[in-house]
Amino acid sequence: MSYTLNLTSSQAGEIISKYHEYSVSHTNNYTLFRAKYKRTVVTIFKTLTLIVQGANTQEVYNEICGLLDMDKAQETNINSSAAVNLSVVGTDEVGTGDFFGPIVVVGAFVPKNKILNLMKLGVKDSKSINDSKIMQLAPRLMKEIKYSALVMDNVKYNYLTKVHNFNMNKIKALLHNNVIYNLLPKISDYDAIIIDGFTNKDKYFDYLKDQEHIITNVQLEEQGESKYISVATASIIARYLFLVNFEKLSEMVGFELPKGAGPKVDLAIIKIIKEQSERYLELVGKTNFKNLEKMKKKDNHLAKS
Ligand code: MN
Repeated sequence: MSYTLNLTSSQAGEIISKYHEYSVSHTNNYTLFRAKYKRTVVTIFKTLTLIVQGANTQEVYNEICGLLDMDKAQETNINSSAAVNLSVVGTDEVGTGDFFGPIVVVGAFVPKNKILNLMKLGVKDSKSINDSKIMQLAPRLMKEIKYSALVMDNVKYNYLTKVHNFNMNKIKALLHNNVIYNLLPKISDYDAIIIDGFTNKDKYFDYLKDQEHIITNVQLEEQGESKYISVATASIIARYLFLVNFEKLSEMVGFELPKGAGPKVDLAIIKIIKEQSERYLELVGKTNFKNLEKMKKKDNHLAKS
């Protein structure tokens, strides 16, 4: 009896970081990872196919399904193969859904011979890693691999959106293009450049059309973080730089700023307008988000009544 499953890079990483203490050597060139656990052999091929064989197949397979949250596993069962056979430049951004704090875009280069190590360290989509693990993991990754990062602060963001009418996707496109442009001279022998897909290819290049340097050999991939370890690595470093900058802003404001763009953010906006000024928000927030307009209206209404 054996079980087979097609994995994403992120899922393979999840399994490898969990079972690597049971890993056994293998000589097969098609094999990424093999472990012997509870008298059962767990093999992950470089095509990201998983096979579970041995005495306790059912039990070990169930354990793996629990680890992976199987509903998701079935959904994301799409063209992830070969991702571990390539040396990939991956890019991702953080902060675009947060009223407070900067936008951070990172490009990370993961050569294929480092993929397994990063998986063992627990590299996967940063959205499924908590902040304290990010703080611990990112500095190791930043030593281990070549990367480049751009942090766009709130003053610059507000200037570009107000004075130049840039929208969020245009800003993302510029930052992704520029981190790749900055990273490429530091690396050699890459197979592909993968941008975590936030728009389609035509629009992406349309946003860049007035730029002097445009990197054209890129692919935009939705859910890139779960398909490519390099995109996941970029997302972890970006999240780390975002958290570090966010902490500084909280210190400057004098209280812990909330993340996201929900009701807690609305309250923080009011507090800052009352304690500082509306203009102060330009330093710490993305003032074209709907939160601000909404709170100003509410505040007027309260003042009149
Ligand atoms: Mn992303």
